Amino acid sequence: MEKLVLGIECTAHTFGIGIVEVTKKEVLFNEKNVFRDDNNGMDPRKLSEFHISNFDSILLKAKQYLASINKSFSDLSLITFSQGPGQGNSLKVAGLVAKTLSLKYRVPIVGVNHIRSHLEIGKMHTGFEDPLFLNITGVNSQVIAQSEHDKNYVVYGETEDIGLGNLLDSVAREFDLGFPGGPKIEEIAKSGKHMMSIPYTIKGMNVSFAGMISNIKQKKQYFENKKEIELLSGEKIVYNKYEDFLADICFSLQETVFAMIQEVAERALAYTNKKELVLVGGVAANKRFVEMTKAMCKTREVTYDALPLPLCMDNGVMIAWAGYVRYLELGDKSRGQGDLSGLKPMPYITVENNI
Ligand code: AMP
Ligand code: MG
Repeated sequence: MEKLVLGIECTAHTFGIGIVEVTKKEVLFNEKNVFRDDNNGMDPRKLSEFHISNFDSILLKAKQYLASINKSFSDLSLITFSQGPGQGNSLKVAGLVAKTLSLKYRVPIVGVNHIRSHLEIGKMHTGFEDPLFLNITGVNSQVIAQSEHDKNYVVYGETEDIGLGNLLDSVAREFDLGFPGGPKIEEIAKSGKHMMSIPYTIKGMNVSFAGMISNIKQKKQYFENKKEIELLSGEKIVYNKYEDFLADICFSLQETVFAMIQEVAERALAYTNKKELVLVGGVAANKRFVEMTKAMCKTREVTYDALPLPLCMDNGVMIAWAGYVRYLELGDKSRGQGDLSGLKPMPYITVENNI
């Protein structure tokens, strides 16, 4: 029997709703509104005002979708929502919308850890049994895998300061490229020719990105003052055209940060002996990053896969699927684990903040 699960994502910039038919692992609906403010990034108050003013448009689309397949919210088997970690006020919007739907339509509800949802959708989509995950998002840069011992997710390596996506966004803001910065930097990097020397900081299994921003700001000053800039080869160069300088900055930044992530991932593969790797998170949209990760996996004879863009970025589908996985874990022995049929309304909320 088909089971429809609806997931609500609202941890930061995205209010998204996804609907998954969980018995066939089929993504039926995936819509979202994304907040953007090119000048100020994510101001928490503006962010929650945006979600409060706009969530209903996505909810309406979900309702219309369900109507198009002769269903309604009452036919859902489960409602799930992003419970954390995230921006406090945004999380309240997710919780409030989910709880209201659950009470009104008498559907059970489960709260989901946002980071875990990136991993679970990675497993669902690839069909991998036990992969190493590279979770590279705006705020996170993590190498994660399930422990052999108890199957809990373990963070083997991560950033010690800012996330890789936020680094790209900050550098893009420095050069007035707008938000989100990652795709802009990717495009401009294609015309880069020279590899500049950018701090490459790995501490054990962890990476550090924060120092790169001041280094790049310094390079910008050198460019403006027509001073020599040192390349990785030791050569020195004075840039005359802003476009050439910017292209080399984007190119060098990408090559450096992606290589750092590969090095940590490679160490984690050697340590855990995993044979599968999956890229998740918004930065996985970057083609150069994917190319480098694939090449690294090939040399280590590790099977590689990634998610399509709509499942990489924050979205409601990953919350729906991870909520379902969590629901099965919580179980209800009297009804048989994993059987959602015949459920009475259970407007309970479960919390799992640690992965
Ligand atoms: P998430 O936090 O998972 O929603 O991912 C958002 C982050 O992904 C933002 O910091 C974006 O700049 C980054 N991002 C999106 N597309 C790309 C891309 N093509 N290359 C690099 N970073 C990207
Ligand atoms: Mg995310």
